[in-house]
Amino acid sequence: MRVGVLALQGDWQAHAAALARAGGAAEPVRTAPELDAVDGLVLPGGESTTMLNLLDHGAMTDALRTRIETGLPVLATCAGIILLAREVVPEQPSLRLLDVTIERNAYGRQLASAVVEVRAAKELGDGPTMEGVFIRAPRVRRTGPGVTVLGWRGEDPVLLEQGAVLAATFHPELTDDDRVQRRFLRRIGGSR
Ligand code: GLN
Repeated sequence: MRVGVLALQGDWQAHAAALARAGGAAEPVRTAPELDAVDGLVLPGGESTTMLNLLDHGAMTDALRTRIETGLPVLATCAGIILLAREVVPEQPSLRLLDVTIERNAYGRQLASAVVEVRAAKELGDGPTMEGVFIRAPRVRRTGPGVTVLGWRGEDPVLLEQGAVLAATFHPELTDDDRVQRRFLRRIGGSR
């Protein structure tokens, strides 16, 4: 099994390192053939508008949409969840594959970056909370009926699952807690 990290922009190296710590060596994905070759994909944090432009520029948008629609396991964080959202506030193009409404940069300027306790759903195992690193994070305003919430910041859903897509508004790759990575790797039939 081959694990890819979309490496056009953003904090893809931190994801590759976190996956390696969790037992899944990852490779950077920058082209459509590289996308074709992986069995699971991380969409990292960064700047969602830039990432969309780079995907378009590399003629990867349609290929990415098709692969996710046909069940490619995905771990999307921060800007990655914005890329997938059905609806983005303020409005911007997105792949519209994850049934959420999400507001960019929604936690306000003074909280632009913060480490916040995230309440973790039982099925994640290993205790009721996890550290969430939020960096100019988006806020989930609505979740559709097919979306399961696995983590909360106060009342806000911050870790979500829909089919083979696992998505966080925070950055699980920046802490030692590898529950999210392990859950993603299990989806691709990877280690643990
Ligand atoms: N604010 C960024 C965006 O809207 C996301 C921030 C991040 O990925 N750390 O794309």
